[in-house]
Amino acid sequence: MADCLFCKIANKEIFSYIVYENEKVLCFLDILPLARGHLLVIPKNHAENILHLKEEDLTAVFKAAKTMTKKLFKALKPDGFTIGINHGKISGQTIDHFHLHIIPRFKGDGGGSIHSVVKSSLAKNFLTEELESVRVKIIKVK
Ligand code: 5GP
Ligand code: ZN
Repeated sequence: MADCLFCKIANKEIFSYIVYENEKVLCFLDILPLARGHLLVIPKNHAENILHLKEEDLTAVFKAAKTMTKKLFKALKPDGFTIGINHGKISGQTIDHFHLHIIPRFKGDGGGSIHSVVKSSLAKNFLTEELESVRVKIIKVK
């Protein structure tokens, strides 16, 4: 897509530190790494988020994520990983081309879990809501 930074990276119009690619995906180092080896997995076809991803691209992204997690583990010996997606502006998505972050984690890095990311001030409202009513709302959707 014109004017999409990650499409330009996928097309090699813009340089990136590529660590893996195949017909469907590109994996490259994040320009502002949160940890040594922080990388991004993107589909080569433009899709804004997981809801827009074609099934075959979705499969390719998650297969590549597994491959890269294995490679990072062997190359950099992290103690673990945080693997995640910012979906939508509210969550921090700054580039409207789907990307999966793989962030190696090291003992003493001072970071938290995914639970530490979502500290909503609305929590007090939904903590009192019955899980059952939420479950029913979700399963009603066809
Ligand atoms: P988001 O906040 O949208 O989930 O993450 C976007 C990520 O893309 C950020 O971590 C940011 O550092 C990275 N990024 C932004 N521009 C570039 C770029 O030009 N090259 C690379 N390699 N990463 C980028
Ligand atoms: Zn794009």
